[in-house]
Amino acid sequence: MKKIIDSKLESEYNKLVESESILPIKITDFYKKKVQEEISKIGIGGPLYKSVIPTQEKISIKTSVETRDFVEENKHMPIEGVDYIIRKYEDRLVFIITDICFSHCQYCFRTYNLSKLQKSNLKETIYNKIEVLKKYLKQHNEVKEVIFSGGDPLSIGYENMSYALEELKDWNIRIHTRAIVYEPKVFDDKTIQLLKKYNVRLVFHINHPYEICEIVENKIKELYNNSIRLYAQFPLLRGINDNYIVLRKLLTKMDELHIRPLSIFIPDPIAYSASFRISFKRIIDIMNELNWNTPSWINSTRFVMDTTIGKVRYENIKKWEGNCITFSRDGQDVEYYDLDEGIDIPSDLNKLLWKERM
Ligand code: SF4
Repeated sequence: MKKIIDSKLESEYNKLVESESILPIKITDFYKKKVQEEISKIGIGGPLYKSVIPTQEKISIKTSVETRDFVEENKHMPIEGVDYIIRKYEDRLVFIITDICFSHCQYCFRTYNLSKLQKSNLKETIYNKIEVLKKYLKQHNEVKEVIFSGGDPLSIGYENMSYALEELKDWNIRIHTRAIVYEPKVFDDKTIQLLKKYNVRLVFHINHPYEICEIVENKIKELYNNSIRLYAQFPLLRGINDNYIVLRKLLTKMDELHIRPLSIFIPDPIAYSASFRISFKRIIDIMNELNWNTPSWINSTRFVMDTTIGKVRYENIKKWEGNCITFSRDGQDVEYYDLDEGIDIPSDLNKLLWKERM
């Protein structure tokens, strides 16, 4: 591959991959071409670049309170010793069907847990995982929906997916994936028919309008034409989409493609995420700008934060003192620590939307 990262930075990053359990650099050829196009237009550090390539800021900017696992997935594993079933809600659970992704997102909030799983020698086969999951589901009739997550569930291949969907056909299945932007070809005819047969809900993670090129767009149309229900959720990220005009463009595009956006996520305060995070005050400003300046089919998308007590929104703020914001839900509180002052510098819109004249 033509060098798209400085060698010194790459070796510094690779050391952190080992010592700090963060995900190594991994990019599909499909996405790399887009990054290279972006570099040829604006140099390094654009929105697609930052999505998959570490920057000096990513490894050096830190804020005073950071954690490795803000949502505390470990506390929500209902079966002792089983780290691939996470349950926070009565009627649904998350099934980490794989720890493999097509590309590694630099902002990934699961970077620590995923990296550990990827390095583990104690990997379960998908067949064993499904057996354990089914046993649990049969004992818990209140769980109606299984959310395939990861890693990227589409990375398990057709045979495994076919087996998983057949075994779990008595439950509603939702699949969260970024395959559509990293490796759209996995949605081949066979796979589309499989998703259709089992009436799967597909939730795309698409962060920027330029991730929807013609190839991606055609694939989404194919899925829609096969009656597959399409949704989206994505994080609000500095350097990638931290301007309401970018969000408006992305949400408009999704609407044209019959994708129903569900949530915009506020990034967790995890280690090595400060370069992507936005001050809480500016998050509210972006949220208000989107609310005031766009029609409701755009601004109905909710801004949420995933926490150990479940998802919370602006309305859940109970107290805001200095850097600490307390959210309350179902009688439980959780503290969120804002970025230290001076870290959040809003992105240049011309850089975020480099294909158009702003
Ligand atoms: S695809 Fe999802 S799980 Fe994989 S690195 Fe990206 S954000 Fe993390």
